[in-house]
Amino acid sequence: MDSKLIPISEIFYSIQGEGKYSGNLSVFIRVGGCNLTCPGFGKNGCDSFYAVDKKYKNEWQYLSIDEIKDKIKKYLKFSPNLVITGGEPGLYFDRLYPLVEWFSGNITIETNATIAPDFKKYPEFKKVSFAMSVKLSNSGEEYKKRVKKQAIKTIAKNAKKSFFKFVINADLKEEIEEITKNIDLPIYCMPLGESKEELEKNAPFVFDFCLKNGYRYSDRIHIRLFGKKRGI
Ligand code: SF4
Repeated sequence: MDSKLIPISEIFYSIQGEGKYSGNLSVFIRVGGCNLTCPGFGKNGCDSFYAVDKKYKNEWQYLSIDEIKDKIKKYLKFSPNLVITGGEPGLYFDRLYPLVEWFSGNITIETNATIAPDFKKYPEFKKVSFAMSVKLSNSGEEYKKRVKKQAIKTIAKNAKKSFFKFVINADLKEEIEEITKNIDLPIYCMPLGESKEELEKNAPFVFDFCLKNGYRYSDRIHIRLFGKKRGI
């Protein structure tokens, strides 16, 4: 495989369903592959298992930056927002850089924040909002694999529009505090759930949890409306 190609699970036009830019019309590029599996998040692990589990690899397309640009151009007349999600985009920061340089609108990279870009070599990453969804113990991953403090600090220091986004189903305040200590970025908490029913079961607790602890609440619009459906 050409080392510049990027495995792409899906590209689609939709509405951002969670976090700081919730409600914004956005073009989504979902890369394939992740360095975690998050077995705690439902029976398939993460809600984007088809972009993580290698058994779905034959569904991924290996695209160059020019091919990705061609696929997203038709949507850009509707939306100035690009969301690079996954899987884990951090696996491909160097290959994604020409896209980040080229795109003049708002870019969000949804990441587990275990890998930071090289901001010296790739300075345009500073304009990106990194949605740092650092995994907590409810992900089922071991701490030393899911929390990389140096990567989090590097992203927070260089990309000032970034924010934290945590999936919650219990009082995980101590874990959130430990991860976000001395980092001045907005913290969003959202209910764990891979279906509307599970989301609604966890939502009231997360609502109170945010009120009590001074965090921002984020819903997950796409799960509420479409459950596990892909490409929305
Ligand atoms: S880090 Fe994110 S994409 Fe990777 S397995 Fe966990 S939830 Fe899924």
